[in-house]
This record gives sequence, C-alpha cells and structure tokens, in this order.
Amino acid sequence: MAKFVYADNAGTTAMSKTALDAMLPYLTDYYGNPSSIYSLGRKSRAALDSAREKIASALNARPEEIFFTGGGTEADNWAIHAALEKMGKKGKHIVTSSIEHHAVGHTLAALEKNGYEVTYLPVDGNGQISLSELENAVRDDTVLVTIMMANNEIGTILPIAEIARIAKSKGALFHTDAVQAVGHIPVDVRALDADMLSLAAHKFRGPKGVGALFVKKGHAIPAFILGGGQERGRRSGTENVAGIVGMAAALEEAVQNMDGNIVKITKMRDRLIKELLKIPYSRLTGDPVNRLPGTASFVFECIEGEALVLSLDAKGVCASSGSACSSASLDPSHVLLAIGLKHEVAHGSLRLTVNEANTEDDIDYILDVLPPIISRLRDMSPLWEEKMNVRA
Ligand SMILES: *Cc1c(COP(=O)(O)O)cnc(C)c1O
Repeated sequence: MAKFVYADNAGTTAMSKTALDAMLPYLTDYYGNPSSIYSLGRKSRAALDSAREKIASALNARPEEIFFTGGGTEADNWAIHAALEKMGKKGKHIVTSSIEHHAVGHTLAALEKNGYEVTYLPVDGNGQISLSELENAVRDDTVLVTIMMANNEIGTILPIAEIARIAKSKGALFHTDAVQAVGHIPVDVRALDADMLSLAAHKFRGPKGVGALFVKKGHAIPAFILGGGQERGRRSGTENVAGIVGMAAALEEAVQNMDGNIVKITKMRDRLIKELLKIPYSRLTGDPVNRLPGTASFVFECIEGEALVLSLDAKGVCASSGSACSSASLDPSHVLLAIGLKHEVAHGSLRLTVNEANTEDDIDYILDVLPPIISRLRDMSPLWEEKMNVRA
C-alpha cells in the first residue's frame, strides 16, 4: 500500500479514539435534549455538565466560565463583539497584531467599516510584537486588546501573560485566540490572567464544529445568539452534546499526555527543521525558540507553494502552504508578509504540522520525498534558472 502521512495538524486533526468512543453513545442511545426534564434528557445534561468541568479543569478555569460555541471562529467573533458591547462607554479603539487568524482579522476589518478604530501591531521577523509598542498603542479609549497565543502559520508563541498585563493595566479587556495552543502547550487562564480565551476541539483531536469561549467570572458578557436560553442565556440553540463530550475527552487526554507528547513531537519537528534547512535557499519561518512543538514551517525560494503541496499530495503527504483558509486566493498570506518576506519568497511557503499521532517513520518518509520534489520544481522554474545564472 502506498504510504500516507498526515502532516497538516494545524489545519485540523484526526479524532482520537478516546474522543470518538466518548461521543458515540450521545450519537446513538443518549439522544435526549439536555433541556428536557425526563431521564433521557437529564443524561445529556449530566454529560454537558461533566464536559464543562473537564474543560474548565484543563484550563484552570471554573465551569461557569466556559461557554460552548460552534468552533474557534465563533468564539473569536463572540469575544470581540462582547468586549465592544460591554465597554461601549469607554471608547471604540481596539489593539491587535498583524498576524491574527482571519476569524479575528476579518471581524476587526468589518468593525473598522462600522466606526471602530483598530491598531495592528507590526511583528518582527520571528512573528513577535514589541511589548513597548503595545504599551504605547493602548490608549484611554482602548476597549479591547486581542492577540493570539500561538500563530497557526508559523508556530510562533507570543508572551500572553505579559501582553495581558499591559492591556489590563490600561483598563482594556484582553482576549486571546488560543486555538493553536490549547491541548498542545500548557494554558492556564489564571496564570495568563486573560479576560477571554478561544479554543476549538478539532485542533486537539476532538470533533469539528465545536469550541468554547472562556470568560472570566465577573464579566457579565452580553448574549451572542438569542433563542431558547441555552448556555446561561448567552448562546442559545440546542447543545451539540456529542461534540462537546468529544471535545472534553480529547482535551482531557491531551492534557494528561502533554509532557510526553511535547517531547515526542518536538523531536519530530526538530528533525524536519534540521534536515529541510539543508535544502539550498530555504528558510525557517516563525520564532526558532518560542514555537509550537509540532510546527515546522519554511519558505523555499523559487518554489510555488501550491505546486509543492500538490506534489506532496501525489506522494501521499498532506501539508499546507500558508494557511488553509487563504489557499483559494493567490495573494501570499498576511502572516508571511507581516514577518517581512517578499511576495515572491512568501509564495514558496510550506507548513508541516505533526502531532502525537505521527511517527518517526512519517518523518523519514517526508524527508525522502520532499527534497527531490523541490529539485524537480526548481528545474522547471525560470526564476531558479535566472538565479543560478546570476550566481555562475
Ligand atoms: C483553526 C483556527 C481558528 C478557527 O477555528 P475553527 O474551529 O476552524 O472555526 C481560529 N484561530 C486559529 C489560530 C486557528 O488555528
């Protein structure tokens, strides 16, 4: 059988067996509506309560601080709108970074058309903001600082505790998109002192279409979806019971195994980085030190990222170029441009993301098939020919 290697775990993950097994009863026998008072319904209600406790415990939060959502995008949208509504009297200014996921970036862009002002903090070549620039950017009328915990394209981990401290010392609310961090690196909402934090189950081997927003106790945030009053009246709609149960099981498992997983995953990532940087005219993207355990991200000069991804697919390897969400457009990703790459270099990006389901065999296979693909693509590239002629 041809080899298959899934190395796009920042895009989504395969579900863990633990998560699937936990979900199945709630997709079959226990289909009661959690709002019903008969015992079948109470069974679902108990499962929701238990899931909320597990998720809260994994984040060092309290159960009443966890609100279930339909994924990371919804949690990000909700956090931003909730902050603006709650803080409306203070002002209309928001501070963010220039490398946020579109769930944050496009939400803020829409708000700019609606009378809000947004400051996009630049990042350095590693994808880090400057804390002194942040300090200068937060004003008396700043209502929200929203900055991601870890970047989905280049794997950079940002110093969220320090960022939160600066935001809050100036009276702004602080939200972090922790979708890439939760389940992969320690996330403790009390230590970070975040007001709000977003997560999504399918990035840590849970099911798709389910996530959560942490909201610190004491912030009576406004409702996001109106209806039957679920999620304490804040997010109505019959709960995705099986999905929520799967998310809790996946997160509990990820947190229990985190220390060992980080060691195993980092080793695979570092082998990819070490070996693939031997390819001429290649570069690592993202912070070399403060980076997600599973993210190996690169640019290869004179390569089209799309061609590279398709060639890898033909060899059974799933990888991504830039962000999966922007793969429909021809513009290079805003993240790669923000770290200072030229357009033509950013086009040659490749993101390989591994998790605990991968093996060293997978890494061997990628290291076998990738370098020859790059040579072949470069042999066909007029840009490469030009570059070699100039050199000669
Ligand atoms: C995947 C992702 C999202 C969106 O989450 P969905 O569950 O796909 O809606 C938001 N932010 C980051 C950083 C992500 O990686």
